Amino acid sequence: MTKRLIFLGPPGSGKGTQAQKLSEHHQIPHVSTGDILREAVAQQTSLGKEAKDYMDKGELVPDTLILNLIQDRLSHDDAANGWILDGFPRNVNQAAFLEELLIKLNQNADCVLNLEVPDDVLVERLLARQRKDDNEETIRRRLEVYHHNAVPVIDFYHQKQTLKTIDGNQEMEQVTKSLSEAVS
Ligand code: ADP
Repeated sequence: MTKRLIFLGPPGSGKGTQAQKLSEHHQIPHVSTGDILREAVAQQTSLGKEAKDYMDKGELVPDTLILNLIQDRLSHDDAANGWILDGFPRNVNQAAFLEELLIKLNQNADCVLNLEVPDDVLVERLLARQRKDDNEETIRRRLEVYHHNAVPVIDFYHQKQTLKTIDGNQEMEQVTKSLSEAVS
């Protein structure tokens, strides 16, 4: 069965890990804009060079860098039978762009999943992991940026009644279980 899932959740919510599991289970590509951007930075492509400073500061990269990338990725053959979006849309402009893109591609998102975890738990988790952009200052900034942009995105999807909120502050296996129930 086709699955098209949009995954929302703050940095450190476990969204990347859970999205990867769902992607394997349903055999659909896991499209993580953060992974794509980190790869571009590592390869020093022109996208990577433009994105790096924003990422190091915990700011969103400009929409102009992201929108074409998503359009190309979702138009790719392997995305014809489903996908899981992780890290996109990050603001209302991106959400509106995605709506239009899906109309053009004649596709529909099945479900928007929102993984919720309290901020103090997130800071603790992020400080414990070892990613390059994970120092305390950028972590706090990423959380601020997340909340600022996520509230309107969540509202946007609430109005369409496709949003499912999952408690991400549980054992990892339990989160996986809640998510598979939500998407089945
Ligand atoms: P996190 O969820 O921990 O912030 P991500 O891997 O999703 O990590 O993103 C890492 C960084 O990549 C973000 O801080 C931001 O700079 C950039 N980024 C990822 N996705 C987007 C997006 N859709 N729009 C703008 N910037 C993005």
